[in-house]
Amino acid sequence: MEKFDVVVIGGGASGMMASIFAARNGNSTLIIDHNEKLGKKLFITGKGRCNLTNNSSIETHLNNIVTNSKFMYSALNAFSPQDTIEFFESNGLKTKTERGNRVFPASDKSSDVIKTLKNCMQRYGVEICLNRQIEKIYKNQNFHILCSNNKEYACNSLIIATGGLSYSGTGASGLGYEIAKQFGHKIVEPAAALCPIKVKDDVSSLNGLSLKNVNFTVDIGKKSFSEFGEMMFTYEGVTGPIVLSISSKINRLDIKNAKAFIDLKPALTLEKLNEKLLREFADFSKKDIKTYLQTLLPNRLVEYFMHKINLVNKKVADISKAERNNIINALKKFDFKIKCLDNINVGVVTAGGVDIKEINSKTCESKLVKNLYFCGEVLDVDALTGGFNLQIAWSTGYLAGNAVK
Ligand SMILES: Cc1cc2nc3c(=O)[nH]c(=O)nc-3n(C[C@H](O)[C@H](O)[C@H](O)COP(=O)(O)OP(=O)(O)OC[C@H]3O[C@@H](n4cnc5c(N)ncnc54)[C@H](O)[C@@H]3O)c2cc1C
Repeated sequence: MEKFDVVVIGGGASGMMASIFAARNGNSTLIIDHNEKLGKKLFITGKGRCNLTNNSSIETHLNNIVTNSKFMYSALNAFSPQDTIEFFESNGLKTKTERGNRVFPASDKSSDVIKTLKNCMQRYGVEICLNRQIEKIYKNQNFHILCSNNKEYACNSLIIATGGLSYSGTGASGLGYEIAKQFGHKIVEPAAALCPIKVKDDVSSLNGLSLKNVNFTVDIGKKSFSEFGEMMFTYEGVTGPIVLSISSKINRLDIKNAKAFIDLKPALTLEKLNEKLLREFADFSKKDIKTYLQTLLPNRLVEYFMHKINLVNKKVADISKAERNNIINALKKFDFKIKCLDNINVGVVTAGGVDIKEINSKTCESKLVKNLYFCGEVLDVDALTGGFNLQIAWSTGYLAGNAVK
């Protein structure tokens, strides 16, 4: 049996950060992951470029955290977005800030972020154990971790950084939740967040079609959620930045009777749109309505659009007032019936997890079991896109790593 001051389970963003600060404070530290390499999810973040944080105020971060933002107040103050940038820069990673204050490595390579973390771990002497399945954990004086190949480790402090349930190919498993439950913690039911939305309508012919500068709205009873920006059709529904954001806000609601609609012309009111059509119909009077609609909509959407409002192709001059109104209404309210959110595995993050009521927000230590810590996505905290989720991982990883003794 090998003995360490600290064992971190999970070699993703939060676990690597926790191990660095634990070791920097003089603790002998071991990190265990069942993958063959560290940071497998980190590697695919930001489409391989890793949007590692958002260079904005703590308030902005708190506003972009969908679940339990208050819990993150201490963590973000202890290790802020600017601390993240400073941490990576001072360890040799050049960064750049792009649109929306999104911070990326200047090289556009997520592998450089991982390399920087690995270099730090090496500098402070973190031991790394990969390809290791964890079979059992128990506690007497110390924590004991029994692994595959009859390997056993003991430690004073145990940090759980096993992430959420999404993207199982990157190593996501429910182990963190199982360990938490074993030690008496409550788990808030995991749910998909930042995930595509499936619709009841057949949109398969629109698969891959992207729409820019549109407004996407979901109405659930009296509640309405709306976002402006870019979205895309999938074979079974919709995805893209504004859809993902809305998915995180509705994932705890009953969406059985939810309706979604796209405002394809958000810059124009119904009246202005009517004036525009009246004006342009005069110019296009001898052309087909299909040809005219191609000036308003992406080509691939036109046929679907016409079918949806039962509009047959004919000369613009022959379009009735009722048909014109139908066109205008559908442009402003292109509606779908929502079926469900997509599977948790395809969500960018997992909502739910270890109940934060039982976690000390200043240290990430369990309030139930001394020297047991949880950091990163395993906690019931999730945020919108823009670098906010990785900041949660860095800040909570820092808190746990810095607090262990
Ligand atoms: C496609 C995609 C793109 C993303 N892009 C961004 C982005 O650009 N910016 C951003 O802020 N966020 C992004 N995110 C979210 C971000 O990656 C996560 O929030 C973050 O990685 C969470 O860090 P973590 O350390 O908690 O978990 P992870 O990074 O998931 O690490 C958990 C680690 O625990 C290990 N583990 C799990 N189970 C076990 C087990 N049984 N035994 C041993 N080890 C185990 C895993 O192998 C993994 O290495 C993205 C997510 C995805 C899926």
